[in-house]
Amino acid sequence: ELDVSEYRKSLAIRVSGFDVPKPIKAFADCGFSSVLMNAIAKQSYEKPTPIQCQALPIALSGRDIIGIAKTGSGKTAAFILPMIVHIMDQPELKKDEGPIGVICAPTRELAHQIYLEAKKFAKQNGLRVSAIYGGMSKHDQLKELKAGCDVVVATPGRLIDMLKLKALTMMRATYLVLDEADRMFDLGFEPQIRSIVGQIRPDRQTLLFSATMPRKVERLAREILTDPIRVTVGEVG
Ligand code: ADP
Ligand code: MG
Repeated sequence: ELDVSEYRKSLAIRVSGFDVPKPIKAFADCGFSSVLMNAIAKQSYEKPTPIQCQALPIALSGRDIIGIAKTGSGKTAAFILPMIVHIMDQPELKKDEGPIGVICAPTRELAHQIYLEAKKFAKQNGLRVSAIYGGMSKHDQLKELKAGCDVVVATPGRLIDMLKLKALTMMRATYLVLDEADRMFDLGFEPQIRSIVGQIRPDRQTLLFSATMPRKVERLAREILTDPIRVTVGEVG
């Protein structure tokens, strides 16, 4: 039997919030579909990383998360796998009704990495992922968005541009991820983030990941998350 408190102490894991789900030890504990288990196996992810052990059951239970962990700890899969489950649970709607999953990241390079990771898990499930960041012509982006998507991975500035052009609607978005929130603030994206969040229904699930939690990010988290569970891994934050 896993001694949860000893385990967390050994990895410098701190978890706070009420009714915290127990961490998982293996991907098999998550109740994933065989399609998703196969996609995980294809990545040669043998077992979940510490942040994944804590965050996966929390996100799968529908709760909001503040995840604080350093780079390379496996945060991307921690929010993408539950996102796939969340989307597969929704009734299929018409193609032009907008994405269910919305992921914001500070730079085009980071957004692109997340896009590639999301596609690995989305494809076999028949889900469509769109990338919305600079480097791609706005014309092509508009065309792609018109064709419909279930997930968008975006930088805040370009997502605002696309929303202003009415290239997509947020009416069915219910799973919002803010990745590397501290860096998005450093880059001056706070107004864009607030605008994006303001366009997504309040009964959404919100996941905020950050390497550090400066006061400004803390304030945003308090405003936009509902009864979040905070998971801190390592000597960060
Ligand atoms: P972070 O966002 O925390 O910086 P990433 O999600 O980018 O970290 O993951 C870092 C690397 O670890 C990536 O190459 C990713 O494919 C890999 N990775 C993620 N989860 C696992 C896992 N459970 N087992 C092995 N490798 C993993
Ligand atoms: Mg990351």
